[in-house]
Amino acid sequence: MAMNSQGRDSTPHSVSVTGDVVTFTGNKALQQEEALIFELDNPGAVGVDLPEPVTTKTRLGGLSPRPGVGLPQLAEPDVVRHYTRLSQKNFAIDTTMYPLGSCTMKHNPRLNEKMARLPGFGDIHPMQPVETVQGALELIDQLAYWLKTLTGMPAVAMSPGAGAHGELCGLMAIHAALDARGESHRRRVLVPESAHGTNPATAAFCGFTVDTIPAEENGRVSVEAVKAKLGDDVACIMLTNPNTCGLFEPQIKEIADAVHAAGGYFYCDGANYNAIVGRVRPADLGVDAMHINLHKTFSTPHGGGGPGSGPVVLSEALAPFAPLPFVVHGKDGFDLIEHAKDAGKAQPFGRLKGFHGQMGMFVRALAYMLSHGADGLRQVASDAVLNANYVLASLKDVMSASFEGPCMHEALFDDRFLKGTGVTPLDFAKAMIDEGYHPMTMYFPLVVHGALLIEPTETESKRTLDQFIGTMRHLAQKAIAGDLAHFQAAPRLTPRKRLDETQAARKPVLRWVKPAPQAVVAQAAE
Ligand SMILES: *Cc1c(COP(=O)(O)O)cnc(C)c1O
Repeated sequence: MAMNSQGRDSTPHSVSVTGDVVTFTGNKALQQEEALIFELDNPGAVGVDLPEPVTTKTRLGGLSPRPGVGLPQLAEPDVVRHYTRLSQKNFAIDTTMYPLGSCTMKHNPRLNEKMARLPGFGDIHPMQPVETVQGALELIDQLAYWLKTLTGMPAVAMSPGAGAHGELCGLMAIHAALDARGESHRRRVLVPESAHGTNPATAAFCGFTVDTIPAEENGRVSVEAVKAKLGDDVACIMLTNPNTCGLFEPQIKEIADAVHAAGGYFYCDGANYNAIVGRVRPADLGVDAMHINLHKTFSTPHGGGGPGSGPVVLSEALAPFAPLPFVVHGKDGFDLIEHAKDAGKAQPFGRLKGFHGQMGMFVRALAYMLSHGADGLRQVASDAVLNANYVLASLKDVMSASFEGPCMHEALFDDRFLKGTGVTPLDFAKAMIDEGYHPMTMYFPLVVHGALLIEPTETESKRTLDQFIGTMRHLAQKAIAGDLAHFQAAPRLTPRKRLDETQAARKPVLRWVKPAPQAVVAQAAE
């Protein structure tokens, strides 16, 4: 097999070693084979036709720029095709159900997109004078109002750029509040074993030490386990509700009261808010700070690493420490507080972001809220929980459900049903790719062995769920019947087959190296 300089097969042949049909081009009908954009470099090709620049005298005092920065040169159609082809190789919520647990991958309504593109929102600049962006500030204020109303909390910091960034905001507010109380010795943060990895990472990043609370047999956190850890060095607890096992924490109020009695704060990870929105007000559970992932609960798009948005609602005790900037009702309309000296009695801990936050996501989230109304948002939570329980009930005879009883918005299975088959959860996930599904969340949460965490969301119809359930049952039965080869060879239908994940993790190739001219000649001669 001839390899190109990056280790990819470059031999034209009609049947591969695994017996799949391979075409001369590597294309499979509409699935186009695609090289790296650097390999497509066509020196001299351009996408624009600019007039020759006027020659001016250099002002660099004898220094001359290095010629060529090594960027690929291509004509416009080549660039368009390259990125369009790449986009077609991705799973997307617009092409398939995306059952990724913990991530709430719901449909992104087109109405939201239309609103975000209105020129009055889409074409403004964060450095415009506030009198020219009154509508945008009003929108931020309205979204803040609804987030506070839904959660029952008195304040909200709008600028955090995602859930993890919201955790940072919450913990920095807690840090500042403790310092203001003269209790800077409180540096221990309690984090349950089932928590998302961002929780302990955030606590450590803020200079706290992390103390793990073990999970109970039933997947919940007990008030006794929390009490056993409390002391006058505890800064806060970080708790997710519903938790990452898809279960409601029934002792949450007792836990909050115990932490408060010991002088600590309660940070709630609100990533799973979709399961309770419109039904439970976090304020009533004793929460001091909670991030809300607008890209989960309020349907703004995930993807490409962002942009997300993670506003943080804050209790009375933490509100004064919220970061800059924030919107206020000024004398002549809305105003923006940019500096601590203008913040009155508040003591903002600083600034988290250059500007006010993800404006486009604010527009989408408010459009989503207003189009649902209060009754619609309640319905979201109910339908999300119903759909997850439908999946759980339809699969628990063939796959092993980790906990007894119904779940909230996501159904957690573990690898006991694969015992003795030789099929691992990873193999199972790869086989799902061939069936056209993005796998569910794998190996998380860590409290069960070989986790498979499925979150269907409320936007999937019964027909879509039945097709998904049918696929899961088919694969589970195939594994139990001993068809190990099917799983170990998967995925077979993707542009790249099973990767050597160990090699990829241990020796990742992160840099494209231009092949030496001889290598190109030698390859052409093969
Ligand atoms: C998604 C998620 C986070 C992190 O949120 P991002 O927006 O991805 O930064 C934190 N905790 C839980 C439980 C999550 O599901």
